[in-house]
Amino acid sequence: MTVVTRFPPSPTGFMHIGNARTALYNWLFARHHGGKFLLRIEDTDRTRHSEEAVGVIMEGMKWLELDWDGDVVSQFAGREHHADIARQLVEKGQAYYCYCSPEELEDMRNKAKEEGTSSFYDRRWRTRDISEAPEGIKPVIRIKAPIDGATTIEDKVQGSVTVKNDTLDDFIILRSDGTPTYMLSVVVDDHDMGVTHILRGDDHLNNAFRQKIIYDAMGWDTPVFAHLPLIHGPDGGKFSKRHGATSVDEYKDMGYLPEAMRNYLLRLGWSHGDDEIIPTEKALEWFNIESIGKSPARFDFAKLDSINTHYIAHSTNEYLLDAIAPLFADKYQIDIKTNDTFMHRLGACMDELKSRAKTLNQLVDEAAFLVKSIPYDFDEKAFNILSDGSIQVLEAIYNQVQSLDKLTNDNVQELCKSVASDFADGKLGKVAMPLRAALTGTTVSPSIFHAAEILGKDEVLERLSYVMHSLKEEKLKKA
Ligand code: GLU
Repeated sequence: MTVVTRFPPSPTGFMHIGNARTALYNWLFARHHGGKFLLRIEDTDRTRHSEEAVGVIMEGMKWLELDWDGDVVSQFAGREHHADIARQLVEKGQAYYCYCSPEELEDMRNKAKEEGTSSFYDRRWRTRDISEAPEGIKPVIRIKAPIDGATTIEDKVQGSVTVKNDTLDDFIILRSDGTPTYMLSVVVDDHDMGVTHILRGDDHLNNAFRQKIIYDAMGWDTPVFAHLPLIHGPDGGKFSKRHGATSVDEYKDMGYLPEAMRNYLLRLGWSHGDDEIIPTEKALEWFNIESIGKSPARFDFAKLDSINTHYIAHSTNEYLLDAIAPLFADKYQIDIKTNDTFMHRLGACMDELKSRAKTLNQLVDEAAFLVKSIPYDFDEKAFNILSDGSIQVLEAIYNQVQSLDKLTNDNVQELCKSVASDFADGKLGKVAMPLRAALTGTTVSPSIFHAAEILGKDEVLERLSYVMHSLKEEKLKKA
């Protein structure tokens, strides 16, 4: 049997991180078994539908490098066929037309509320003949759900889950306006697409019982279900915006690498011993449903950062360059690849920068000093450090730099030490901090001694002179 999985998001305008994990698991499971991974857009809600929202999903999938097989399936496009299946179910005696008026349904609802029963429809049209149909009511089609006994789903994650059939309504599969309901469309699509395994959030477990009724009624094989516990936030509540970013594009924008995101999402609910770093090749080799956790995993931002730090540190410089070039263009309007000075300087500190950057954005911000041009601004922290009586220290550095032929990491460090002993009770930090603030406009950069070496004597003198003048004239510019 060829394994076929699917990812069927509703285009809501953003791709939730939980959906991304579902997509990843389905992709890994299919690829692990040499099967197919299909993408279907559940676009039947036309009031909310937009091509843009579909685009967001495709972008998310492409960024995460989860490639799907064949064309993207539109659920909406299959609506006529879904409606046909509803009518076929009537012909087979597995479904029936229901002519209840809204008032009758309201009465039934109230009665069910009073009696405290979970299903409300009293199945009155299940046995009535169509000749009794009232005038002017367009019927819906309802499935004949089993009345006695129980329905069991052998879920690969949740285990064997049983519900009593009397809790399952004769639910609607075709609305009175002729449109199929979600419950029907999902089953028909999954059947037509040959889906063998459904891995999805456990918020769909209740749907599985109803979907099984349709599979059985059509005489179709029910796919294997694996309902994944939902992702929780660090405080144990359902992962939502109040915890932080919840959509895939936000993580992309914050500078996470797709491979780090895949690794993190994989571990968020699946384990392989104590392994934390699991590159995709390994994930493809090892992924199985059995090792999916049964309880909800908590989203851990610090862990995601540490995984991203690992992937950045282990990426090649060429790869990172490609990844940061658009970010530089966006944030600093610089085409780094055609900027020889930048490329040369970056080459001298990339290893250092990448060894500790948590995100690509951090890498970009820490490398930005390489191409600052006068007059540049100072971030809040740098501004405060410089404003806090740093002029004497900067002047002393300036004078000593002037007397050197060429700056090196070591001679800048020595120079700072001597300035520290003259003006700062020997505290190197009291010299290095204003120097960093002055040369970079920030408080983040590679080692400032190395940074000064990379910038070179002339540029260091120019930047120091710019800052000293600004300070004297009280014109230091805050970013
Ligand atoms: N469209 C559903 C969702 O986005 C998925 C339904 C399913 O996996 O069966 O949650």
